[in-house]
Amino acid sequence: MTTPIPHWLDNAPFASSGAQTAPVTNPATGAVTGQVALASVADARSVIDAAAAAFPAWRDTSLTKRTQVLFRFRELLNERKNELAEIITSEHGKVVSDALGEVSRGQEVVEFACGIPHLLKGGFTENASTNVDTYSIRQPLGPVAIISPFNFPAMVPMWFFPIAIATGNTVVLKPSEKDPSASLWLADLWREAGLPAGVFNVLHGDKTAVDELLTNPKIKSVSFVGSTPIAQYVYSTATAAGKRVQALGGAKNHAVVLPDADLDLAADAMVNAGFGSAGERCMAISACVAVGPVADDLVAKIAERARTLRTGDGTRGSDMGPLVTRAHRDKVASYIDAGEADGAKVVVDGRTVSSEEATERDPGGFWLGPTLLDNVTPGMSVYTDEIFGPVLSVVRVDSYDEALALVNANPYGNGTAIFTNDGGAARRFQNEVEVGMVGINVPIPVPMAYYSFGGWKASLFGDSHAHGMDGVAFFTRQKAVTQRWLDPSHGGINLGFPQNG
Ligand code: NAD
Repeated sequence: MTTPIPHWLDNAPFASSGAQTAPVTNPATGAVTGQVALASVADARSVIDAAAAAFPAWRDTSLTKRTQVLFRFRELLNERKNELAEIITSEHGKVVSDALGEVSRGQEVVEFACGIPHLLKGGFTENASTNVDTYSIRQPLGPVAIISPFNFPAMVPMWFFPIAIATGNTVVLKPSEKDPSASLWLADLWREAGLPAGVFNVLHGDKTAVDELLTNPKIKSVSFVGSTPIAQYVYSTATAAGKRVQALGGAKNHAVVLPDADLDLAADAMVNAGFGSAGERCMAISACVAVGPVADDLVAKIAERARTLRTGDGTRGSDMGPLVTRAHRDKVASYIDAGEADGAKVVVDGRTVSSEEATERDPGGFWLGPTLLDNVTPGMSVYTDEIFGPVLSVVRVDSYDEALALVNANPYGNGTAIFTNDGGAARRFQNEVEVGMVGINVPIPVPMAYYSFGGWKASLFGDSHAHGMDGVAFFTRQKAVTQRWLDPSHGGINLGFPQNG
């Protein structure tokens, strides 16, 4: 029995007009559990039209009333987030505690958005010129699109929609077709929180749905998160259609370990950041840059820890779950083969984690254990490509300068970290590294909701990061008003440019 997974429009499920669907699997068993609708252009237009129809009334809803809905949504989410975490695990595969962590990080953005009346306050200047005042206001854009990846089916959409809704926009969310059910749970929670029909809508689908969102004139902005080639495509297509776009792309995150670092701390961090969520995080560490003499000890400490990890069903107390699909599991395994063939040393081999070894691993699941490669060099595909799996590569360099040059030469610039006890070296790194998010003895430096999340270079197209004040600015348009009420005499005809006095 597979469950049909419909779109969501006007606070209710909405069946596709076409017959096209895609299978959704439980990665821990390989069983097909659902069939998600793949929107036709007509479906996409129906959902976009609903968002457009709901916009004028939501835009005019007072900040007090909007905020009350947000607070109710926050309370419901906080009470029931275990349900959402279980849905995520059943379609993504990550362990339940990790899924709960993703929901909590998304909830922080909802909490940030609960303060929207304060964040939307404009400026006011009295007597900018004689009897003339100037002030600024921020207004919503209209219906906005959010297109999200498979690896954070709740948190990534929540980077955007709480702020989009709080600022008075209406939303069409196009989630990943690999794990679409979390979005419907969130949509129903909005309904329960009292959000009016049409303000939050879900459109499932593939390129057909995305292309309609990128080009339909009713959609005013696009917030995309996914791989770099698609981010680039989304950015160029939607900006050419006149939209405001933020498109966050892929990553290849490096952690630099200096000779004076606490190696136990660094080894713990490499394991947590390399293998958490089976490496399917845009902030995962995939390259560990060992500087000077630390490499042998560091590799031994990482290997010792990696061998203790239990890979298995995310609902059964495992440390690491399966990969999202069989095709992705096989692609990641092929990178390990390529690294080995290129001369890297396979210190811990995840390919040997088979389904027979443990009861928490169903033979149909998409299993790959933590893998540690040593002596990786920058020319190898295991280093150049974003693998998006539990594969940690150690690159050995002689100096801080060599490490920095390696990080800065990489086309991606999402996250990075440095491990050291030298404050001066850490400060230099923070200043010199060409990466958007930097951790100092912190391996996954994901900013809090009131800061903004975003990478540099091929990790982000556009100039606006997600959430924080960047989010408020992205989802609003500024208007500056100049007013004169007293003494409105204009001093006669004067074709000169208005001057202040
Ligand atoms: P993806 O690029 O395959 O898919 C992302 C979204 O784009 C999905 O909704 C998908 O349906 C849609 N899509 C896929 N192919 C398309 C096409 N040809 N045309 C139009 N739309 C298309 O990414 P994914 O595999 O779901 O997610 C993993 C990627 O996302 C990794 O590269 C990861 O680094 C990146 N990611 C980045 C961040 C960040 O903040 N920079 C965060 C999370 C994930």
